Amino acid sequence: MYSERIDFSHEGSLTIDELIKRVEGINPEADLALLRRCYEFAEKMHSGVKRSSGEPYIIHPLNVAATLVKLKMDLDSIMAGLLHDVVEDCDVSPELISEMFGQSVAQIVVGCTKISKIKFKTKEESQAENFRKMVVAMAQDLRVIIVKLADRMHNMRTLQYMTIEKQKAKAQETLDIYVPLASRLGINSVKGELEDLCLRYIHPEIYYRLAEKIAMKRRERESYIEETILLIHEKMLEYSVQGDVAGRPKHFYSIYKKMQHRNVDFEQIQDLLAFRILVSNITECYKVLGIIHSAFTPVPGRFKDYIAIPKVNNYQSLHTTVIGPKAERIEIQIRTFEMHEVAERGVAAHWKYKERNKNAAADKLKWVEELMEFNQNVESSSEFMDVVKNDLDVGGVFIFTPNGDVKELRYGATPLDFAYAVHTEIGNKTVGAKVNGKMVPLKYRLKSGDTVEILTSKTQTPTKDWLKICKTSRAITKIKQHLMKIERDQHRELGEVMLEKALKKFETSIKQLDKKGEFKPLLDKHHYKNLEELYVNLGSEHLSLKEVLTNIPSINFTEETYVEEEKESFYKRVAKSARKSSSSDNAVIVDGLDDIMVKMGRCCNPIPGDPIIGVITRGRGITVHAVGCSRIVEIEKGRQISVEWNKHYTFSHPVNIKVTTHDKPGILSKISKTINNSGINIRSAIARSMPDQKGNFIFEVEVKDYSELLKTISSIEQMEEVISVNRA
Ligand code: MN
Repeated sequence: MYSERIDFSHEGSLTIDELIKRVEGINPEADLALLRRCYEFAEKMHSGVKRSSGEPYIIHPLNVAATLVKLKMDLDSIMAGLLHDVVEDCDVSPELISEMFGQSVAQIVVGCTKISKIKFKTKEESQAENFRKMVVAMAQDLRVIIVKLADRMHNMRTLQYMTIEKQKAKAQETLDIYVPLASRLGINSVKGELEDLCLRYIHPEIYYRLAEKIAMKRRERESYIEETILLIHEKMLEYSVQGDVAGRPKHFYSIYKKMQHRNVDFEQIQDLLAFRILVSNITECYKVLGIIHSAFTPVPGRFKDYIAIPKVNNYQSLHTTVIGPKAERIEIQIRTFEMHEVAERGVAAHWKYKERNKNAAADKLKWVEELMEFNQNVESSSEFMDVVKNDLDVGGVFIFTPNGDVKELRYGATPLDFAYAVHTEIGNKTVGAKVNGKMVPLKYRLKSGDTVEILTSKTQTPTKDWLKICKTSRAITKIKQHLMKIERDQHRELGEVMLEKALKKFETSIKQLDKKGEFKPLLDKHHYKNLEELYVNLGSEHLSLKEVLTNIPSINFTEETYVEEEKESFYKRVAKSARKSSSSDNAVIVDGLDDIMVKMGRCCNPIPGDPIIGVITRGRGITVHAVGCSRIVEIEKGRQISVEWNKHYTFSHPVNIKVTTHDKPGILSKISKTINNSGINIRSAIARSMPDQKGNFIFEVEVKDYSELLKTISSIEQMEEVISVNRA
């Protein structure tokens, strides 16, 4: 009978033969031999392990698979159900699963493993956020969640073997996360069962009182249900409508909620029974509604038309409450057989047709994709989108940390945004990022479900370029703050040097004057807290050297001390030489020239440590070449200028490294790892397989100086697969 509730009870004696028989029942074309192999593999992997109940472990995956069969899921899901714990518990590699049972089975198992690592926080974190974490997992394959729900169903079914603390914690997590998820996906059969199980462990006193009350009147109730079903059938026949009628006590949890909602006691709850009428089409639904309302007195305000206006999760049905034959309130739900399938199995209902109609499943995945990648700029009037936007606020991407935490970032966010979302210090020290184990550029656009690992270096510091990479306001604010701090530090340093140099002319020093309290009048006049503040203002030209000198009592600073012109050049000279030693704007210091544009020659790409020479270009400033670069020879001596590396410049320089190796699988990632391990960021990598069994790679890496480059090269050289390493 269609209208029967799905029975998710624990089946202690379930065998693979029985499971195969059931799968054959819903899908005769399924590869049953593969299913058996899958079971045998899982059984072997879990062999020797027992559950808390004392049963062999395999009974758990077998029951999970059975639940998936009851939800009429496809073979891949059922196999994933059998294998859902082998990656986490038995160290089986996803690749092996993929090889043996196919890519999508492996993907579902990996998704389940990922979810099991998510740390859900029940109290501090809002339900919406937990919910979003699950949605992340859904994004890749909705079946992940359905397998996970089946897993949770069986764990809840066998919770009695756990300690009371664990029971309560599991039940609360189920109620907070899995129940709303089942509800959102419209899998009401799972939702109802899970809710009752949660109630049993969270509020056992209420659960058992309800169970007792209902059990007491059992016989009475059963005959009442039977009579009422007959009565409804009779009435329907009068109007020649065919259909299924079923009656049952309501779920305990829904009674409990009603008690809470209306603040009433169990005795006052009247409508404990619910009847369901299933018919062939929508017209008949409304016809039956009319029949019911004329046969029984409807309770005002209790009629709901979810056929005309379906719930967000696609649930469709007519609901009404009437005064039953014994003057008791009864709830009646009327829907078509098809609507019932959707009501019980929600999104799972869509896999039923998968084998025959692949598009049905594809449509469903698109639905989730839209949910995930929902762009705020796209306007949609559909109720669904509005609800998604409001309920889930899915305007961004959801990113995993390597240990399973999830961060929500706005659409278009990069690994750098993610780094700042984790911690400001991590953001400031970021040199590279790995997404799902692979190196990516910092401007990479993150996708939901990506696992991101941030590589940091102690010597890293944010640059202005980062403002262009970042999309989140948090990252941008933090970078700006840091740049301001750097600027302040520079101003402070500059101010101090300027003052010290100026005081030399008067044969004194900051230290000497400070000891005698000579700065006090100046600090007081400008309300500076300390000398630091004075330096910063001096360095940033908010305060003139003249103002400083005239306000130091022991210094006799008069206009006559310097001729105006001389003074001007004196200030300039001091400022310039001070700036030169503290500035970190340019990688290269050009003698005698301030604020000039400096570029690295693309031909030789020099890095700090290389001997260098500057070439004055027409209107473009100075290009820096390595001494001995072939381009230098062609350039007239007059345009050459001596330059030196700026020791204060700590930013990275790109440089190419060419690596020749024996062609072995995985060699690229091995080299990448080696480079990353020495704290070096890889900008790009080009790989080429050579006919002579050799591999050729060019890595564009970022190094601070020549010694860092040498260190990197020598660490690559030490790998046994490597034939040669050169700077390219
Ligand atoms: Mn499990």
